[in-house]
Amino acid sequence: MLDCIIVGSGVAGVSAGLTLKANNKSFMIFGSKNLSEKITKAELIKNYVGLSDITGQDFCKQIQAQLKDADIQIQEEKVSGVYALKEKFGVATQEGGYYESKTVILCTGVESIKLVDGETQFLGKGVSYCATCDGFLYKDKTIAVLCTSKRLEHEIEHLSGFAKKIYLIAMYKPVEVQGENIEIIRKMPIKIDGEKRVEKVVFADRELPVDGVFVLRESIAPSVLLSGLETVDGHIKTERNMQTNIQGCFSAGDCTGRPYQYAKAVGEGNIAGHSVTAYLSENK
Ligand SMILES: Cc1cc2nc3c(=O)[nH]c(=O)nc-3n(C[C@H](O)[C@H](O)[C@H](O)COP(=O)(O)OP(=O)(O)OC[C@H]3O[C@@H](n4cnc5c(N)ncnc54)[C@H](O)[C@@H]3O)c2cc1C
Repeated sequence: MLDCIIVGSGVAGVSAGLTLKANNKSFMIFGSKNLSEKITKAELIKNYVGLSDITGQDFCKQIQAQLKDADIQIQEEKVSGVYALKEKFGVATQEGGYYESKTVILCTGVESIKLVDGETQFLGKGVSYCATCDGFLYKDKTIAVLCTSKRLEHEIEHLSGFAKKIYLIAMYKPVEVQGENIEIIRKMPIKIDGEKRVEKVVFADRELPVDGVFVLRESIAPSVLLSGLETVDGHIKTERNMQTNIQGCFSAGDCTGRPYQYAKAVGEGNIAGHSVTAYLSENK
């Protein structure tokens, strides 16, 4: 079993990975080979020690070269759920992968997410974040898909192969996914509702009866990603050693709170890597 799984490939996740590598631990980093848009989109970085006036693109290239030198690969899969099991963690991805590790470090960054009323209440009872994992459950059924990014359209295509009817609540433009069973809606719902399971999506002017709702966002709120994770104002609560309230689960970077800066994220990633190493020695 892996010593650690790092969720997120921004500077916090990379820093944690470099630290674990130096400490000779086995691990995987989940995210993107392009690391993070918060690196590539930075016009000019002036406040990082030792690197004056570097563009985000160049910063990204340097980090990618450093990862290559250290023989660290990024696993290009999106983590859809982290499960605290007995003395280990299960990590499921939207691509259908499942991995296990002794510890996890959450370095998911921060994105302002407004959850739809009823979303967490009906999670696993008709609400899903993973088209690949749960799409087959909705063969010949009617579903709503709330999607916030064009990059996730492949998941809608996947669902259209199963569902009889899809109400695509598209929060992005342009919509390019096509299918006779897809109807596009341009309004945010007020809530997802039902008795024991999802039964309908409620808008200001109408209600749509559905069997399930898929919510496809680039980011998943930390408390949704790992059930029972303590957060404060949407940020993951940690101790000084980056330990969260869940044993064996650590966190670093923007997702733990302000200031949202590379230096703070890198420092916390480094601490989390060392804390995981200490935790593994104490819990052999
Ligand atoms: C335009 C811009 C310019 C900036 N300029 C500066 C600057 O000059 N100086 C400075 O100090 N800071 C700057 N920042 C802030 C800085 O970018 C952030 O503080 C830093 O990137 C935080 O790093 P992180 O690793 O915590 O998170 P992020 O960089 O947000 O990385 C998180 C990564 O995890 C991935 N991820 C999230 N959830 C999952 C999941 N479930 N499965 C797999 N992967 C997942 C995300 O896709 C992302 O790639 C800037 C930010 C922006 C947007």
